[in-house]
Amino acid sequence: MIGGGPGGYTAAFRAADLGKKVLIVEQQPVLGGVCLNVGCIPSKALLHAAKVIADAGEVPGVSFGKPRIDIAAVRKAKDAVVERLAKGLASLAKSRTVRVLNGTAEFASANSIRVSSSLGAKLIRFDHAVIAVGSSPIRIKGVPYGADTARFFVLSDSPPDRDVIWSEEGVQGAARFMQRLWRLVNEAADAGKAAPQDRPATFGADALTLRKAAHGALDRVSTGIERLHFNVCLANIREFANELADALARARSNKSAPAPDLSWSLREAAIILVQIFSPMMPHLAEECWQRALGQTGLVSEARWPQIEPDLLVEDSITLPVQVNGKKRGEVTVASGAGNPEIEAAVLALDAVKQALGGKQARKIIIVPQRIVNVVG
Ligand SMILES: Cc1cc2nc3c(=O)[nH]c(=O)nc-3n(C[C@H](O)[C@H](O)[C@H](O)COP(=O)(O)OP(=O)(O)OC[C@H]3O[C@@H](n4cnc5c(N)ncnc54)[C@H](O)[C@@H]3O)c2cc1C
Repeated sequence: MIGGGPGGYTAAFRAADLGKKVLIVEQQPVLGGVCLNVGCIPSKALLHAAKVIADAGEVPGVSFGKPRIDIAAVRKAKDAVVERLAKGLASLAKSRTVRVLNGTAEFASANSIRVSSSLGAKLIRFDHAVIAVGSSPIRIKGVPYGADTARFFVLSDSPPDRDVIWSEEGVQGAARFMQRLWRLVNEAADAGKAAPQDRPATFGADALTLRKAAHGALDRVSTGIERLHFNVCLANIREFANELADALARARSNKSAPAPDLSWSLREAAIILVQIFSPMMPHLAEECWQRALGQTGLVSEARWPQIEPDLLVEDSITLPVQVNGKKRGEVTVASGAGNPEIEAAVLALDAVKQALGGKQARKIIIVPQRIVNVVG
């Protein structure tokens, strides 16, 4: 048996059960292949932790607080699961007298393979050989999309627990959006080239609007990833990409180069954009990170950006306004506005004046952050 993954070891065990003398040749130190050592088992052991965290946050009325993740301990637990299963496979092989030879096999003739390892090369003769060496990704001729496009499409289509309905238009849309991301990041990186290294002390209106959009998206995507709501993350990334495109268009419409605070904010926005889409489109993100943004190292190893909480505070708040229990309109006030300011803004509304029919309001009840009731 060439290859000791799920394909190889199951066939080897079956052949042994049928009375064959079986040897598994495996180039990795343990049996299990991609599934046990790289893919299914490690990913599910890690996803299990993420699922428990997500479930704990969804029980109505029960709060466990924000989880603290000790990544070294999580990794150790995952390694322990893999090791236990690897030992189980080794003993299953032993109990069937299936021998395991570590090394890389190549055919020497129709009935022999050469197995090379750090200990040297060995020639093995056989009557029957099964090739179970797994697969490696290739790009299919005529299909112009890469792994990131497929991943983006699958993740953006629906929540992870639902089936995906494949659609050619959907995949094409995903491919177009990825090209747009590449263009946006490059343009923002160019506009941010002259930016000062240090964070400016103050920001003008355009820069502040962009920074709020960037940190708002960062906040929502961070939460979405923790909850495995990747489709929501991608919707937020699309929204932020539009906001960055608007900021770039505004900057372009000014004939002069962007002011230092804006160019710093454009570079920050591009960096945040790449980091927040990197878990969903890792290949594109690495290209953007190094080639467009000139960063060193891998984005997958870079520190997750720090959210600035001040930028998440809304400047204004919109409240529904009722007169004698019937909704008459809405009022938008500064988010820190006190009751006198809210009352004045409500009484200045034409709809409220009309509903009161020229009479004085007898009482105004303000439910903070929720609603304003005017009693006529
Ligand atoms: C991240 C991830 C998550 C996954 N999750 C799931 C899941 O949840 N459910 C699921 O069903 N599948 C999952 N898979 C897919 C699953 O891992 C593969 O389908 C499965 O491992 C294929 O088994 P295999 O034996 O054909 O190949 P492999 O597992 O690739 O095993 C082939 C073995 O052959 C060895 N080999 C190759 N060439 C030689 C050589 N010349 N000489 C000696 N040895 C050689 C390799 O070292 C390897 O150990 C996942 C894959 C990944 C990457």
